[in-house]
Amino acid sequence: MPVIAPGSTIGILGGGQLGRMMAMAAAQLGYSVHIYAPEADSVAAEVSAAFTRAPFHDRDALAAFAAQCDVVTYEFENVPVAPLTALGAVPLRANARALEIAQDRLAEKNFITRLGGTAAPFCELDDEAGLQAAIAAVGAPGILKTRRDGYDGKGQWRIMAPGDANEMCVPPIPMLYEGFVRFEAEFSVILVRSLAGQVRFWDSAANVHVNGILSRCTVPGGATVMAQVPAARRLAERVATELDYVGVLTLEFFATANGPVFNEMAPRVHNSGHWTIEGAITSQFENHVRAICGLPLGDCGLRVPGAVMENLIGTTAEEALPILNDPSAHLHLYGKGEAREGRKMGHVTRLVLDEAVAARAEGPA
Ligand code: AMP
Repeated sequence: MPVIAPGSTIGILGGGQLGRMMAMAAAQLGYSVHIYAPEADSVAAEVSAAFTRAPFHDRDALAAFAAQCDVVTYEFENVPVAPLTALGAVPLRANARALEIAQDRLAEKNFITRLGGTAAPFCELDDEAGLQAAIAAVGAPGILKTRRDGYDGKGQWRIMAPGDANEMCVPPIPMLYEGFVRFEAEFSVILVRSLAGQVRFWDSAANVHVNGILSRCTVPGGATVMAQVPAARRLAERVATELDYVGVLTLEFFATANGPVFNEMAPRVHNSGHWTIEGAITSQFENHVRAICGLPLGDCGLRVPGAVMENLIGTTAEEALPILNDPSAHLHLYGKGEAREGRKMGHVTRLVLDEAVAARAEGPA
């Protein structure tokens, strides 16, 4: 397998905090990073060697960017796929098919169920007119989700009773209405697959979301999660193999009384894997870099008995600083400007060094 050696340039599509942490891991291994993003204030570009600011559909800009890169990856899954042919012979890892499937909730669910996974019951609709029929078919409560471009709870509307739909103003775009899953916990499976097809998994954290945004991850994830991890991992590995995937891949699940129910997949490093920076032998960011460059993978095992990661959402740097009074806390601030409501400004990982305390953690508190 051809190795992209340290000293080469890794291109990253997307300029947010995932790109920033990926760039820092790449720098540790001696790579240069070139960020490609449409926005002017990229927190990834701030820590990288080069920055192309251009729209994702600008083929000329993509071709010029690719000419300066040895491999291209992405930190954001809503990059339009068709213009990526402008990257030419420069390898895109993970590949465009993974991106294409993960961008569309319908394609994703069909793909997962074809591979033997279970997803929440759902119905497709194209506008408000189809909503009542969808609610009648699937039942309420449920969640209406845009098929594309949704993230962090955006593009989602909760419907507690069929009557709720009467007051809603739904955009005329392709959507899914999904039945509400009664889950005991939420968790994700994060794996890395090398260029040669070797697969490794990190421990699965129990994830707690508030208003559709990830709030906290706890590792170990507790008995409920751990019992469902083997089946979820089998599905995730089938996904990775089927896509001939290279890099870090994340699948999110609901742990239910009937086993793991697939929620969504992200063809990239993931917020629920941030604890791996301090809590695992090799972080998700470093292993992603290793995988896309054809290097041997690092061990994904825990290096401490446990870890708890909390997102700092809408928190200013000033508000976050007292966290440093806890000597076990690792504070990450993303260097974003304004601390708006719902905006991920940073995260904190607290390592659990006591075996007994980690074993007692039952994931979501
Ligand atoms: P998503 O953007 O689809 O990952 O949704 C964000 C969060 O909303 C999930 O992590 C869950 O906490 C919640 N959620 C989404 N879909 C469902 C569902 N069908 N049933 C119950 N909770 C859901």
